Amino acid sequence: MGKRKFKTEVNRLLHLIIHSLYSHPEIFLRELISNASDALDRLKYLTLIDDDFKGFAFIPKIEIRFDGNNKSFISVTDTGIGMNGDELEKELGTIASSGTRHFMDSISGDVKLDSNLIGQFGIGFYSSFMVADTVDVISKKAGENKAYRWHSNGKGMYEISETEQKMNGTTVTLNLNETGKQFANRWQIEQIIKKYSNHIAFPIYLHYEDKRFEGEGEKRKETREPKVEQINSASALWKRLKSELTDEDYNEFYRTISHDTEDPLHTMHTHAEGNLEYTTLFYIPKKAPFDLFHFNYQPGVKLYVKRVFITDDEKELLPTYLRFIQGIIDSEDLPLNISREMLQQNKILSGIRTTAVKKILGELEKMAKNTPDKYETFYKEFGIPIKEGLYQDFSNRENLLELVRFKSSTEKGFTNLHSYKERMHSDQKAIYYITGEKEQNLRSSPLLEAYNEKGIEVLIMDDEIDEIVVPAIGKYKDVELKAVNRSSTSEDIKTEKDKKDEKEIKPLIKKIKDILGDEVKDVRASTRLSDSPSCIVMDENDPTLQMQHLFKAMGQKNLPEIKPILEINPRHEIVKKLQNTDDKEMAEDISRLLFEQALLVEGGEVKNPSLFAGRLNRIIAKALM
Ligand code: ADP
Ligand code: MG
Repeated sequence: MGKRKFKTEVNRLLHLIIHSLYSHPEIFLRELISNASDALDRLKYLTLIDDDFKGFAFIPKIEIRFDGNNKSFISVTDTGIGMNGDELEKELGTIASSGTRHFMDSISGDVKLDSNLIGQFGIGFYSSFMVADTVDVISKKAGENKAYRWHSNGKGMYEISETEQKMNGTTVTLNLNETGKQFANRWQIEQIIKKYSNHIAFPIYLHYEDKRFEGEGEKRKETREPKVEQINSASALWKRLKSELTDEDYNEFYRTISHDTEDPLHTMHTHAEGNLEYTTLFYIPKKAPFDLFHFNYQPGVKLYVKRVFITDDEKELLPTYLRFIQGIIDSEDLPLNISREMLQQNKILSGIRTTAVKKILGELEKMAKNTPDKYETFYKEFGIPIKEGLYQDFSNRENLLELVRFKSSTEKGFTNLHSYKERMHSDQKAIYYITGEKEQNLRSSPLLEAYNEKGIEVLIMDDEIDEIVVPAIGKYKDVELKAVNRSSTSEDIKTEKDKKDEKEIKPLIKKIKDILGDEVKDVRASTRLSDSPSCIVMDENDPTLQMQHLFKAMGQKNLPEIKPILEINPRHEIVKKLQNTDDKEMAEDISRLLFEQALLVEGGEVKNPSLFAGRLNRIIAKALM
């Protein structure tokens, strides 16, 4: 017992919260109520499945008290599971919770950016220090004898001591600071709870003093009477009929479970009856959560069984590519005491999951069709996870193919495979695409020249993930997807003239091949170039340069060196002149430069920059003669 120091990470977080969250200080109440509700959920669960707790007298409720006269405090009491001394230490002295932990991992140190980040999710218990100078937590764990008090001013130190309390549960008392005083007010508290916590499944009671004036003139006097009132509707909202619920009901519930301050982009509510009986309520947020691409993201879907909370930490309730979905699955058929291992192979749950995924993808397809602007908003935030679905979820690949969007060399904004197919020329053999890092570089790549000239559309794929996903798609309906930086692709667009040119530069090709030796896999005449003298492509099954970068970035070492194919443009002035020159030294410099510039344009590196510069300088000097 006695004084302890916060872990350094907690200090950093406290500092950030106190200095950057002032735009939404009221969320402290949402966070405390959410913790109280979790504590009630956990005890309720034990009373249902654990023999030690079956006879336990349990009246689940949350009570809020405040000092309306001096505005000195607000307190939140729950009759939930409670914490013992060790847990107070562990849960409140360190950043144990996964949400907070993730936040700490992702903060940048840039305060402005971080405050946006904080707004995206709950920062939990520590938000108390936005509105309080000091915080007291008194708690007694259900089933244990001793009660403990945790006290801190949020500035580095906290204290834990034993104390007296009969009932199990927790009271958090905030000794309000200047910012906090405004909240010690009945109307304020009611409003905040209605906004964020109305559909918490347990009753929330507000204790207040009813002030009245009685009598007239001399005899007029003030009376104060203590009152208690339940202020939330405390129903499992998802169990109610759709027809009974308003948009605001749904949105308020979303804000409660997601810790988002904004309304959701889309809401899906389903009551399934028949073979499997269950309810799902899913939301798509407007903005991607900060941890969307963290390996250890926080799942957004909670599992209930007959309205009893089971878990909010099960990543397999939906496939990982749908990890941005927030909401609830409530099954009537699962047993309450289902274990984690059993969850993962449970037939009932996997049945629910299968239909839920179909439902979500179906809704997205409808959204894309009926409200394309809304879909675009969605896609900008969650397009990458949808693409992940293409290699994670074969059974829904057809639907997912309708949902992915790409940029295009001929269309503005995003386009889709369906409309690409409709725009294809009658003799066009494939859907063409180019992958790489920067949209601008891709659009001006020499590889597109012939396509642009012939008016053939090429999809521009600048998401890192495209590199992995798109080759795996293979076909859309019956049309092949082909990368323009693949050696064979240009066969599709070869003309008679190309064949003639190819023949003519055979000797030059041989010369360049001898000069470059084993730096390239091959040298060929190109049919895809018009303005550029050369380009590089990769052989059919070799990884592209970007893919090689990606493998390296993912930590793969000892990758074999994979050589590109150099293509040269028979119609280009440089190439024509090179064919006729007798200057051996210059021919060698130019051949190498043709290769090196093509590498650079595709985002590759030249092996030896100083030799490259030497060659370039010799050519420049000759040009200036
Ligand atoms: P989170 O709720 O995301 O876990 P918080 O910072 O809100 O993060 O809370 C940290 C932890 O403190 C909780 O996970 C829980 O273990 C504990 N805790 C907080 N409030 C209560 C409470 N009222 N009753 C029991 N435990 C609590
Ligand atoms: Mg919390």
